[in-house]
Amino acid sequence: MNSHLMPTYNRQPVTFVRGEGARLWDTTGRVYLDALSGIAVTGLGHAQPDISEAICDQAKTLIHTSNVYGIEWQAKLADKLAEISGMSSVFFCNSGAEANEAAIKLARLFAHQKKIENPQIIVMETSFHGRTLATLAATGNPLIQKGFEPLVGGFLRVPYGDLAAIEQLAAVHDNITAVLVEPVQGEGGVRPAPKGFLRGIRTLCDQHDWLMMVDEVQTGIGRTGRWFGFQHEEGVLPDVMSLAKGLGNGVPIGASVAAGKAAKLFAPGNHGTTFGGNPLVCRVGCTVLNVIERDGLLARASDLSTRIRAGLIAGFQSEPAVLEVRGLGLLIGVVLDHPCGELVRRALDRGLLINVTAGSVIRLLPPLIMTDEQADELVSTLVALVQDWVAENTAQVTD
Ligand SMILES: *Cc1c(COP(=O)(O)O)cnc(C)c1O
Repeated sequence: MNSHLMPTYNRQPVTFVRGEGARLWDTTGRVYLDALSGIAVTGLGHAQPDISEAICDQAKTLIHTSNVYGIEWQAKLADKLAEISGMSSVFFCNSGAEANEAAIKLARLFAHQKKIENPQIIVMETSFHGRTLATLAATGNPLIQKGFEPLVGGFLRVPYGDLAAIEQLAAVHDNITAVLVEPVQGEGGVRPAPKGFLRGIRTLCDQHDWLMMVDEVQTGIGRTGRWFGFQHEEGVLPDVMSLAKGLGNGVPIGASVAAGKAAKLFAPGNHGTTFGGNPLVCRVGCTVLNVIERDGLLARASDLSTRIRAGLIAGFQSEPAVLEVRGLGLLIGVVLDHPCGELVRRALDRGLLINVTAGSVIRLLPPLIMTDEQADELVSTLVALVQDWVAENTAQVTD
């Protein structure tokens, strides 16, 4: 690869030059099945015609002005996000980490307005919130923090799913201002929140006047079969929600969405961005939401999830190395009994794009528009791949 690029990634030895739907083509013309969607980004698939058209038309009309002027598409996208989330105000930025930065700033502002000094945000073990200084401190993964100390302070950590641990913190700290949680931990190993966890957090936040902040960067925009992951649990409306990834289908856009007491916290001068929410990305965001609605892709994501998970469970039923198939909607994890990072390369050799997270969890993030035939291809390729790999390893052990 190019020696003038900083080596921040261990890149796979392939370069894609073209895509269509759930298919990608590399520089040699070889075709691949994309079960990763650029890590939960291209939910509508590659070269989706409505998206391409929106980008081309807006590029010929107006790409950027500034947030010191009115931006029609920004207002439209904010209206639409408010409608589908039940929340009320939006700040647009360019990435998931930035959306979480805005959330963290909102939480601190909320505390300072109540004269709380040194406010603390409760975050989870094995969480992921981004790579900026504040979001890597919020992230529950020492590998991501190592080498970047001193870490930004103001975070208290509890095990994911442990409501009692949050209550214990509430009993000893009087400066807690918010809880930040993912509805499903994606990077952390595709762990869905235990039933009742989000509602329990909502209740505690109401009791203690904290902000409930959900990081829906990976789970949002239809990925789980509902617009947002929190909508799988009745009676839960967060105060702050972070979005990015799927919102732009590939154009860089993030959003921090707020409701109730969080909706009016930022005043002029508190926060800002040069690029965030420009006419181009906001028009694309509107198009993404319209296409999901028009084409019934929330229901489609649920149906595809059922099909893929049933296929995987059947395929792996007599494979003891596979401990569990879990997830929510089209965020699917196949948990193996030992580290399996090398499967990413092996899948690539078979023309399939997947990912491995938390060492031993195969992560699948297929686009919402994948066809039934492609879903079946994904299942059969993956089942054969894992079985061959396990058989090879077992053979080596007994040799
Ligand atoms: C990807 C991700 C982020 C970071 O988003 P970037 O756009 O890479 O900054 C934050 N939170 C979650 C849950 C994510 O999956």
